[in-house]
Amino acid sequence: MRATCEKRPGIYWMVGPGGEVLYVGKSREVRTRLLSYFRASPNEKAHEIIGNTHEIAWEYAPSEFAAVVAELRAIQRWQPPYNVEHRRDRAFCFVKLTREAAPRLLTVREVHADGAQYFGPFRGAEHVRLTVREISDLLELRDCAAATPMRFADQLDLFGGAHTPLCLRAQVRKCLAPCAGQCSRSTYEGQVELARRFLDGDAEPPLGILRARLQEAAARLNFEYAAAVRDRIARLEESAWELRSLRGVIDGLTFVYETGGRAYLIRRGRIREEREAPASPAEKAALHVHAARVLTRSEHQPGTVQPTQAAEILLLARWFRLHPEEREGCWVPDQAEARTASG
Ligand code: SF4
Repeated sequence: MRATCEKRPGIYWMVGPGGEVLYVGKSREVRTRLLSYFRASPNEKAHEIIGNTHEIAWEYAPSEFAAVVAELRAIQRWQPPYNVEHRRDRAFCFVKLTREAAPRLLTVREVHADGAQYFGPFRGAEHVRLTVREISDLLELRDCAAATPMRFADQLDLFGGAHTPLCLRAQVRKCLAPCAGQCSRSTYEGQVELARRFLDGDAEPPLGILRARLQEAAARLNFEYAAAVRDRIARLEESAWELRSLRGVIDGLTFVYETGGRAYLIRRGRIREEREAPASPAEKAALHVHAARVLTRSEHQPGTVQPTQAAEILLLARWFRLHPEEREGCWVPDQAEARTASG
């Protein structure tokens, strides 16, 4: 290994006795990193890994960034046992819309392939948690345990008669009480759709509900309630603005990033395409045209993420946060300029 492994960026992987991949790592200098495994003390994880390793393999990457991306993809492909504690970015969270008879909104750290819809990533878990609480209360979505039995109004014939709501949220008008037949399935789904739209950036429907309540309260001269509603409007407007700016962090990760002779077309924190970096003005102009198309074409539900996409978004967000100097060379294709170049 000493003779052949070079001090270049890349990934390496340790293979166990049965040919299974035990661990994948990356480094700016593969050779230096691999040699460090042989110097690890007995209480270090590296010592344990190398003790179980029968073979070491590596692959060079054109840049440190390429190595970081290759490491993620290799981990996703092989799921090596020593990578289970693969670093997670605790600065971000997601909003989960559960896939249940009466869906709930939850703030979570990870995205799973469980049929739920995930929005994000968002920065600042505590603020997002408060926003989720506010929108759940306003739209009267349930927040009880997953196992709570649901009895929609249109199911009561099956279950026989009305029931008492199982908690106080219904009494304080913070839940439609689908547990007690106090709303139909379609009414509840209508509220869920408003929550979905809010998370997609459209705060007007829930704000409209509050404004209507404010008018009602004013008409009845219920000034105390009107003041409380006014406060909720202000809080919700603030939350909607915050959520949009949180999303903006990820939306801002939309550009062309050239490094190590490669060009990465990145949109909302995901690499949509990778190709050789342009070597001439003509190639650059062609890339402008192509990138303008890739980075601006319309997408269905742009705010939601799939489990396989979340790790990449977090990885890229982390990369550009830790390496702000790398952002300086990134460029956003100017559509007008691209049109001129193509014409
Ligand atoms: S009222 Fe019923 S559905 Fe609503 S949160 Fe309470 S237990 Fe759940």
